[in-house]
Amino acid sequence: MKIRGINIYPLEVPLSDPFVISLGTITHARNLLVEIITDTGLIGMGECSPYSFINGELPEGQLAIAPVLARLWIGKSAFEIENRMAELDDLLIGNLALKSAFDMALYDLNARYAKMPLYRFLGGSNDRILWSDRTVSVGEPEKMAIEATKYIKEGFQSIKVKLAGPFEVDVKRIEAIRKAIGSETPLRLDANQAWSVSEAVRTLRALQPYNIEHCEEPVQAGDLMGLQFVRQNSPIPIMADESLFDHRDAIRLVQMQACDYFNIKLSKSGGISKALKIAAIAEASGLHCQVGCFSETRLAITALVHFVLARKTVAHYDLDSPLMLSLDPVEGGVDLSANGRAMIVNDEHGIGATIKREFLNHEQCIEVT
Ligand SMILES: [Mg+2]
Repeated sequence: MKIRGINIYPLEVPLSDPFVISLGTITHARNLLVEIITDTGLIGMGECSPYSFINGELPEGQLAIAPVLARLWIGKSAFEIENRMAELDDLLIGNLALKSAFDMALYDLNARYAKMPLYRFLGGSNDRILWSDRTVSVGEPEKMAIEATKYIKEGFQSIKVKLAGPFEVDVKRIEAIRKAIGSETPLRLDANQAWSVSEAVRTLRALQPYNIEHCEEPVQAGDLMGLQFVRQNSPIPIMADESLFDHRDAIRLVQMQACDYFNIKLSKSGGISKALKIAAIAEASGLHCQVGCFSETRLAITALVHFVLARKTVAHYDLDSPLMLSLDPVEGGVDLSANGRAMIVNDEHGIGATIKREFLNHEQCIEVT
């Protein structure tokens, strides 16, 4: 199966409402699609979501770099995923979101060639229903409580709350949400690096009585000493997100004993190949993982669900990005209900999802042959 051509498309989808976290606000998903055409007639598709303030990538940069990466692969085997991804890594460090779209398209192709759904190609089984949480943007406590109440009424079984300091306001946010939704539904927190080390410990201690599952990325990404200190002094388990991109970060976090959980996102790990390596490190270390998202459509989220079904160490699911989009450009793929229930409902080969043709902007497509 030789790669004959690669098409690169920008994919822009407006969000229903602006999404606000401590690092910034977005109003549109501005994603990138990679379509790999082979001499077998099979076509594979991958998607990524650049998030400049987290993964350092912008759509403009991705569109400039993607053809350079694509040219490395023309005429080469689509079977050799390890070799192909090493070629990208040898040319260019980082850019893991962009690389993940290439990786995803190769996995799609290989599973299609094997005539298997991707989870089966990865050795998994479709025996779990995944319940995604729903994320509450950071804002005024009362507004956040109203948003959380809406999601509970829609049937979500867990709520993820974005926090951003200062201490008094974060405590008020959680108090208001708990007052509105009661004490039973688990809450997950995400500070997106907003706190200092001492503020993180103070806040997490104050929030202990509120039935909190875990807290993502309390302090500046990469401050593993700080993260380790927070973990040692927090009554709430700590999840590494922006501090965990690829498998090298995973092993450092384990060596430092700096977190209780990993949050794997394909647009951080560099795709499925490295997500599998992170999952192996987690399993060997006795850690469980969450999977998360940026602003992917159901295409990349379906690929992520296939990965989850292949690795039991993934036990928490944050898959709500397609629910934030104002429209669904995807055909086939995961059935993601309005209450967060995610299921692979058909056994189509590969990812089993494609972008509807009308959403592929042929005028802006970059064709590499
Ligand atoms: Mg996070």
